[in-house]
Amino acid sequence: MNKKVIIYTVMLLIFAISLNIFSQSEQTGIVEFSGTLKNIGGEWYLNTGGDFFRLNLPPDEFLVENKIVLEGKTEITIHGKLVEEEINAHKLIYKEEILEIRDADGNPLWEEIVDLGHYVVNPKLCIGCRLCIDPCPTGAIQMVKGKAVIDADKCIACGFCANGDGKKFKGCPTSAISKFEE
Ligand code: SF4
Ligand code: SF4
Repeated sequence: MNKKVIIYTVMLLIFAISLNIFSQSEQTGIVEFSGTLKNIGGEWYLNTGGDFFRLNLPPDEFLVENKIVLEGKTEITIHGKLVEEEINAHKLIYKEEILEIRDADGNPLWEEIVDLGHYVVNPKLCIGCRLCIDPCPTGAIQMVKGKAVIDADKCIACGFCANGDGKKFKGCPTSAISKFEE
């Protein structure tokens, strides 16, 4: 085979491969985005360094059930589809966890959410130290007349307030918080 034929063959091969890759990405539309998280008004956004996208994510209950508690200013990688400046997330890679959140057709995998229940404060044991407020990832705890009160609608039953958040907070010092049992 002469030199020209070899060069043409290689060029044709490269062209065919790139066409195939391109058509695959067009078919799936899934793109990888990496950046840092930012929470604005309860909504999560991704700052990629050059772009800023709103994130379409599952409810907190689903994420917590799968060991993901998002925090601002932390790194995340998202596989998803970009639709009008919003990323419809299909897969999250966050800290040590990898979580699929939509199937290949884009259908959410979080529809069968188990009711995780919620936590409550025993006002007789609460000494009003306020230590449980900041570790709560959903802002479910407020002080009312010197006692902590948990909003059951906001509580995702992560247990941080009762048992600690795995960082500095070791849980309610008086064991005033427990899981609500019907
Ligand atoms: S940590 Fe415990 S004692 Fe302190 S405010 Fe919260 S519930 Fe009350
Ligand atoms: S269990 Fe406690 S820390 Fe977790 S969401 Fe409920 S109130 Fe907040």
